[in-house]
Amino acid sequence: MSLNITLIKAFQDNYIFAFQTGNGRTVIVDPGDAKPVIEYLNEHNLRCDIILLTHHHHDHIGGVAALVKKYGAEVWGPATETKRIPGMDKHLKDGQTYALDDSSFNVMHTPGHTLGHICLYFKENEILFCGDTLFSLGCGRVFEGTMEQMHNSLQRLAVLPDETSVYCAHEYTAANARFAYHIAEGKEQEHLEKVMADIAETRTNDMPTIPSVLAFEKEHNPFLKAKGATEFEKIRRAKDAF
Ligand code: ZN
Ligand code: FE
Repeated sequence: MSLNITLIKAFQDNYIFAFQTGNGRTVIVDPGDAKPVIEYLNEHNLRCDIILLTHHHHDHIGGVAALVKKYGAEVWGPATETKRIPGMDKHLKDGQTYALDDSSFNVMHTPGHTLGHICLYFKENEILFCGDTLFSLGCGRVFEGTMEQMHNSLQRLAVLPDETSVYCAHEYTAANARFAYHIAEGKEQEHLEKVMADIAETRTNDMPTIPSVLAFEKEHNPFLKAKGATEFEKIRRAKDAF
């Protein structure tokens, strides 16, 4: 079964995701801003029924209060961030599976960007909502966790099936590709030249580079390819200074 995911643009480079369950309920993932979500819902004659959250940063939860007020939406978010995100209706725990009408998802606790960050994996639909943990050709900054935690979190995502569609919460791909190219060598640099040209073309038309596909990330994302936490840390620190 396929889930039809809509990308809603917010702020400079955030994506908020919307989809419908088989029962016609509308789910919104990481609504950092209510305005573009309400515009989208109005345009399609929908309401917001369920909100899914990956972590507590404002650009992911800033629109929650307004959507709850307007639609009475249920809020499902990381059990590990209940102190940072007050008022959640369901506390999502690592390793648990949650039914969402006719679909279901697994929760993967992926600390690093924040300590309580979770990713939502819809196995049957081959879809991953990874918030600010994994970006296309990049990864989130390590704000709260350790470099080792972030490395382990990314490695957990790396064992998901190759076909998995990766829904990252930011359009950072072009800048990430420039950094990946900068640290690549030989054949991989040639690959990335082609990749950068493709990304540039997509972005010229203001089209999203998201979703990515996990196979592509495993092949070209330097943060996923890092062998061990020490190498990961070296690359992450180089990117922070790039
Ligand atoms: Zn964040
Ligand atoms: Fe973010």
